Amino acid sequence: MTSATPPAGGRLTVLTGPSGVGKGTLVKLLLERHPEIWLSVSATTRTPRQGEEEGRSYFFLSRQAFEQRAAEGGLLEWAEFAGNLYGTPRQPVEEHLAGGRPVLLEIELEGARQVRRSFPAGFQVFLEPPSFEELERRIRGRGTDSEEAISRRLERARVELDAAPEFDARLVNGDLETALAELERLMGLNG
Ligand code: ADP
Ligand code: 5GP
Repeated sequence: MTSATPPAGGRLTVLTGPSGVGKGTLVKLLLERHPEIWLSVSATTRTPRQGEEEGRSYFFLSRQAFEQRAAEGGLLEWAEFAGNLYGTPRQPVEEHLAGGRPVLLEIELEGARQVRRSFPAGFQVFLEPPSFEELERRIRGRGTDSEEAISRRLERARVELDAAPEFDARLVNGDLETALAELERLMGLNG
C-alpha cells in the first residue's frame, strides 16, 4: 500500500489526491487525534459551500484580491483548479515551522509540485481511491458540487492519479480507519 519510510523530523507534510478521494475527511480525523498538527488554511476564489466558514475552511477572496496576494509573494504556492484559484498563505506556514510545529498542507497536484521545489525536505503523500468508480461515487455522494463541477473534477482526477508515482508515499483510502493509521505511521505519529 505504501512505499516510503517516515522521514526523521519531517515536519512539513503535503497531502494531495483527487477531489472526492477523502482528503478532508481524513485530515479532520487526523487533527482530532493530533491537535499538535497545524493545518494550513488556504485562500481560494471558489464560492463557499454550505457550512464552510471564512478563515476556518478557507479565506474566500475575489480573483483580484487573490491575484494581488500572489503578486506580492504572499503565497507559498498557488494553482488553478476546476476554474478557481487556490493558494497557501506563506507567512503562517513559515511561522509554524519555525516554531517547531508539524505543518500539514492539503493541496492539489500543481501546488504540491511547487512545494516540492521550495521545501524539498517536505514529505509528500498521495491519497488514492480504491477505484475510479468509487471516486465518482464519493464526489456525487458528497452532494456539494454541480454537475459541471463534478465533470471538471473527474476529468482532472485522471491527470492527478497518473502523477501518484511522483510522491514519497501512496496511500489508498479504502477503509478510513486503516488509511488513518497508515497516515499516522507515515508521518511518524503515535497512533
Ligand atoms: P476530498 O477532501 O478529497 O475532496 P472528502 O473528504 O470531501 O474528499 O470526501 C468525499 C466523500 O467521500 C465524502 O462524502 C466522504 O464522507 C466520503 N469518504 C471519505 N473517505 C471515505 C472512505 N474511506 N470510505 C467511504 N467514503 C469516504
Ligand atoms: P475544494 O474546492 O474541493 O475545497 O478543493 C479543490 C482542490 O483544491 C482540492 O484538491 C484541494 O486539495 C485543493 N486545494 C485546496 N487548497 C489549496 C491550496 O492552497 N493550494 C493548492 N494548490 N490546492 C489547494
